[in-house]
Amino acid sequence: MHYLEERHAVLKCAREIYTSGMVTGTWGNVSVRAADKKLMIITPSGMDYETLEPEDMVLLDFNGQVVEGKYQPSIETSLHLGIYQQRSDIDAVIHVHSPYAVAFAVARKNIPVILEETAQVVGHEVEVADYAHCGSQQLADIAVQTLGNDKKALLLANHGLIALGKDIPEALKVSYIVEKTAMISIYATVLGTPHSLSPEDVSFLNQSFKSYGQKK
Ligand SMILES: [Zn+2]
Repeated sequence: MHYLEERHAVLKCAREIYTSGMVTGTWGNVSVRAADKKLMIITPSGMDYETLEPEDMVLLDFNGQVVEGKYQPSIETSLHLGIYQQRSDIDAVIHVHSPYAVAFAVARKNIPVILEETAQVVGHEVEVADYAHCGSQQLADIAVQTLGNDKKALLLANHGLIALGKDIPEALKVSYIVEKTAMISIYATVLGTPHSLSPEDVSFLNQSFKSYGQKK
């Protein structure tokens, strides 16, 4: 089977978003750009994550043509495709319906940068893209436009969250941090006034995090 490593990575991530509670049922979707940059590998539409196998993944070229796959690709394929077309820095896209982030998407309020880890990993407020129906080209266009050239995460109004990364571990980290930030923001609002980090601090933390950790 071609692209076995990528198929396994997408499958593992799809199972994780399900078991972590960031999606229920068959909602949500995951994709990667193949290591050779020729294709994207995405979860199929409407299938149980628990029973998915590597061969169930759908391979598409960047014109949106299915190259290999026995099932229909995710209904949000045009969203994933649009992101890869616009962002050469991004090789993994995760879409979830995690509850605290979705609360912000329903209130149509940006998730503020209130935690150092939000500044480090995301580096910006998570904006809410204007509402469009799930699976529509309009939703894909609005999302790609709102993500611009440097955003790592975006809320889809009344719907969910998109998290981007240079690989799946990074995109997963972005989704966990955004969900945690949304949760803490709601609790902090109950307790009083949440204080956001200043743009200078956000920029400093984001830059210094890039060189943080063990040198390889
Ligand atoms: Zn969705």
